[in-house]
Amino acid sequence: MFYLTEKIEDIVKARMYARQQLIEGWDQGVIDNGCILIIGVGALGCEIAKDFALMGLGKLILVDLDTIETSNLSRQMLFRVGDEGRPKAEVAAERLKEMNPYLKVDFYFEKLQKLPISVYEESDVVIAALDNFNARLDLNKICLRLKKPMVEGGTVGFEGHVQIIIPEGSGLSYKNKKREIDNLVDARLWEITEMEYPEYFKAQRKIEELEEDIEQIREEKINPLIRRFRKEIELVFDWKYAPEVLDQTPCYRCLVPIPPADDKLVAACTLKGLPRNRNHCVIKAEVNFEKKYGHRPDLNLNDEVLKLKEIAQEELEKLRERVFNENIPIEERSSLTKEETEEWKKNIEDTFGADYKFEEMENILGNKIAAIQTVSSVISSIESQEALKLLFRVNGRNIGDPMDPPYVNYNGVYGQFDHLTIIKNNDCLACGEIEGEENVHIVVPFDANVGYIFEAMKLSEHKLDPELWMITSPMTKEIYWNPYMPSMKDPNIKLTSLKIKNNDIITLSPLGKALVESEIKKYNVIITFM
Ligand SMILES: [Zn+2]
Repeated sequence: MFYLTEKIEDIVKARMYARQQLIEGWDQGVIDNGCILIIGVGALGCEIAKDFALMGLGKLILVDLDTIETSNLSRQMLFRVGDEGRPKAEVAAERLKEMNPYLKVDFYFEKLQKLPISVYEESDVVIAALDNFNARLDLNKICLRLKKPMVEGGTVGFEGHVQIIIPEGSGLSYKNKKREIDNLVDARLWEITEMEYPEYFKAQRKIEELEEDIEQIREEKINPLIRRFRKEIELVFDWKYAPEVLDQTPCYRCLVPIPPADDKLVAACTLKGLPRNRNHCVIKAEVNFEKKYGHRPDLNLNDEVLKLKEIAQEELEKLRERVFNENIPIEERSSLTKEETEEWKKNIEDTFGADYKFEEMENILGNKIAAIQTVSSVISSIESQEALKLLFRVNGRNIGDPMDPPYVNYNGVYGQFDHLTIIKNNDCLACGEIEGEENVHIVVPFDANVGYIFEAMKLSEHKLDPELWMITSPMTKEIYWNPYMPSMKDPNIKLTSLKIKNNDIITLSPLGKALVESEIKKYNVIITFM
C-alpha cells in the first residue's frame, strides 16, 4: 500500500513538471533536492516563493520579522484580507503548502542576523527580497563569509533592479571563459610598444596602405602574435585570472560604500527643533501622541491613526502660521488686503501641502517608499530566473550562465532594461582588502556638540564608549575628543565651533581596552547637519 502511494505521488509530480522538463539541460532532480532561502516575504518574496513552489523546489526557507498589514494586501500575493497581524513568513508557508503539497517549507519570524548559521549553510542560493539598506548589507556580509551565491533585488515606484552576487571562493564559475580570455588578449595588445614588437606595428601600417594584402599580412605578422598571447594567457588563466574574473562579482557593499543615515537620526534631530516640513509634523505628532496617551500609536488601529492625524494637522497649522509670521512683519500685517493675505496663505499651503490624508501617517512614520505590484512582479521574476540558473550551477549543472554584467535596472515608465557594468571595489569594507573599518553616515542637529556624535553613533547601532574612543580629523589630524586628555574632553563643545562643516568626515579610533576588543579599528563618519 505504502509502495503504491509513493508511486502515485511520483506520477503526479512527473505530470506536474512535464513542461519544464522539456527545457534543454533541465534536471528535475536538481529542483527536487534544492533548497532556497528567501529573506523578506514582502511583494518580491511572495512572488519568488510562489515561483519556486510551482516549479517543485524541494525546500524553501522563509524569513521575515514583520506581520501582515492592510497596505501589504495590494501587492503581497500570498496574503488575504483577514491575515492582518499574523507573521508574514508563517502565513506564506501555509499558502505555499496549499499551492504545492510536496513542498517542504521552514519559516522564521526572526531577524536575518539572528538565524542559526545552519539555515544559511543548508541553502543552495540566498535571495534578498528586502526593503532596506542595512539588512541587505548584513546579508551581503553573511553570504560573502559563507560563500553563498546571493540574488538581490529591489523596487522603488516604477523602477527596480536585480543584482547577482557570487562570492570569491564559491567555486561557481561566473563569466564566459572564452570571452574573458579574448578581452585579456586585446588588453595585452594595447600595452605593447613598437620597440618591443616593431614587426607588429609595421604590419599594422601596411594593412592601412595595402588593403589588398591585408589578409596575407595579418596571417604572417599579426595572428602569430595573437596566437602566442592567447596560448600564454590560456596557460595561466585558471590560476591567474579565473578567481578574479570568473568566480566572483562585486558584492552589494561595493555599490553602497556609505550606507545612508538611519531614519532614527533624522527623527531625533527633528524633535530637537521646530518641525520644518510636512514629515517633521507627523514625527512630532507621534511624540505628542505618546505623551498624551501613554503609548505609541498603533498604526493598525484606525482609531489611533485618526487621533494621530488630528495632532499632526495641528502641528501643520502651527507650521503654516509660523511661516506666515516669519515672512510678514507685524507692522505690515494690518496693511495687507484680504486678497493679499489669502494669496500668502495659499502659497504657504502649496509649499507644505494640503491637509493630511489618513494613509500619510503610516507612509511617513514607516518611511515607506512607493511600491506597485506590476513592477514587483517584473523584478521578482528576474530574481527567480537568476536563482534558478544558480541552483543548477551549485549542483554542477548548467542551464545558462548568470546574467553578465551581474546588474540590471528596469525602468517601468519607458519599459526599458539596462545592464549596468559594476566594478568590484578593492577598498570595499565587505569583500575588499581593507579590514576593520566601517563607514557611517550620521545626521546631527545644526547646533550639535561633540557628545552628540556618540549618541548618533548609538542610534545607528554602533554603540561606543566615549571613554575609549578618540575623534580626529582625517585631513588635519586635529583632535576633537580624547578621553585620556582632560583638555580634549568637553562634550558640550559645538561641532560648528570646531569648524566641522556639512558632509565633512571625522575619524573615530579605539583606545585602550577598545583597541583590543573592538572588531572595528576605524570608523569613517560623514556628518550631515539638518
Ligand atoms: Zn564588495
